Amino acid sequence: MSTGLGVRNPEVPKEQITVNPNTGQKTVRMGDLEFPPRKVWMKTFGCQMNYHDSERILSHLTDLNFTRTDKVDDADMVLFNTCAIRDLSNNKFYSQLGEMKHAKKKKEDLVVGIGGCVAQTEGKELVKKYKHLDFAFGTDVIDQINDMVFRTYSGDNKFTINSWDRSENFSIETKITHGSPQAFVNIIKGCNKYCTYCIVPYTRGKERSRKKAEVIEDVRKLVEYQGIQEVTLLGQNVNSYGHDNGETLSELIMGLEEINGLQLIRYTTSHPYDVSDELIAVHGTSKKLSNHLHLPVQSGSDGVLKRMHREYTIEHYLGLLEKLRKSNPNIVLSTDIIAGFVNETDEEHRMTLDLLDKAQYDFIYSYAYSMRNNTRASKMEDLLTDDIRGERLREIQKYQLGIQAKIREKLVGNQYRILVEGYGNMGGVKKWRGRTNCNRIVHFLPSSDEQDLQWNWVDVKVTSATALSCQGDLLEVHGRRYPTSK
Ligand code: SF4
Repeated sequence: MSTGLGVRNPEVPKEQITVNPNTGQKTVRMGDLEFPPRKVWMKTFGCQMNYHDSERILSHLTDLNFTRTDKVDDADMVLFNTCAIRDLSNNKFYSQLGEMKHAKKKKEDLVVGIGGCVAQTEGKELVKKYKHLDFAFGTDVIDQINDMVFRTYSGDNKFTINSWDRSENFSIETKITHGSPQAFVNIIKGCNKYCTYCIVPYTRGKERSRKKAEVIEDVRKLVEYQGIQEVTLLGQNVNSYGHDNGETLSELIMGLEEINGLQLIRYTTSHPYDVSDELIAVHGTSKKLSNHLHLPVQSGSDGVLKRMHREYTIEHYLGLLEKLRKSNPNIVLSTDIIAGFVNETDEEHRMTLDLLDKAQYDFIYSYAYSMRNNTRASKMEDLLTDDIRGERLREIQKYQLGIQAKIREKLVGNQYRILVEGYGNMGGVKKWRGRTNCNRIVHFLPSSDEQDLQWNWVDVKVTSATALSCQGDLLEVHGRRYPTSK
């Protein structure tokens, strides 16, 4: 039986959906089972790939008469999409899973399921250990969610499906339910890098790319039928895109560039080892490629990079930044830093601070190293204490905030066209916020309280800035479609 992404279990009956023309009531049958309207509460942890997968799962579940609820107490089914990378998300997941034991006492027919990277590696043990957990599913079988829910409601629960996608082609269609003009589009799955601290190759499998023509057609449909104007191309290592079928990321970007109505192309996550000169050139020529690039470096020390098996040197990495800034002088760079990797010396730590000076990142994501079971680094004898890791992390963050504050001072007076993503209460005042092409957040006051600017393109002028965000004045509102003339 073939399993995998984009593939359903042929042995399970398919959904029969009927809508009563008078009442509009939707009835769904699968085999002998009827699926009345139900609510699903979904909690996603971790990376954008997980958020992308959660959108896919929710989109499938609408075919089974499920609607999403933000209130866990209203849910008939609770799903966790887990992350195996960070202690924090892991701890939160286990405590919330524990709470479901009590929720199930109050609601006996509550269904509880887990997906994502923890389910991929520990699903079987967790289903055995937690009596109130009905099923677990891995990262390669998310498109079988309706088959698994059918199985559970048929009374066959306590199972785990975490088989790998062995099909020849990695082929999926992007599914979104959120109604925003932004979409994550998965172009490559898995990772072949095996950085010593990382669990991803064990939870997401080997690299497999979607065909370029399929991705372009997928995005064209998203733009035409779902009003998408901004896409983020997703992969654990997007720079390896196409290595398995003779295509490249730069060709894909230039192919997407032709799609009318698509305004902005972003991609994440990159690995410096696979950044080609061809791609660097596209950063200079493409009209739709974002001016922001996230290029994780992890450490400023060649010794640490070697122990991490990152396969590049700082000299090579800084050379890439120089070429990128030459190709596109407006490029804005960010990165990931791991503080306190196994046996990192004080001198190696200093090299990371030195790198921040040289690289002048616009922002960084920084974490203290936390050991993950089954990674190669977990087998290394580590003499560094978490206290030292914490100290170094705080020093890196403080140091970087100083750099960011100086960079953002220079933005005052600049004008930007931004896509408004939402609003917040800032000091008791309702302010809208949007993201610039180069991925900076600008907060601004609307011209009136009643004004609804959600998903509008607007022009703003930066009036002040801190290390983390900018404040601005609203200059012009262009509406939900990107203005073609201006
Ligand atoms: S490139 Fe390294 S850190 Fe990134 S997903 Fe692959 S193994 Fe993990």
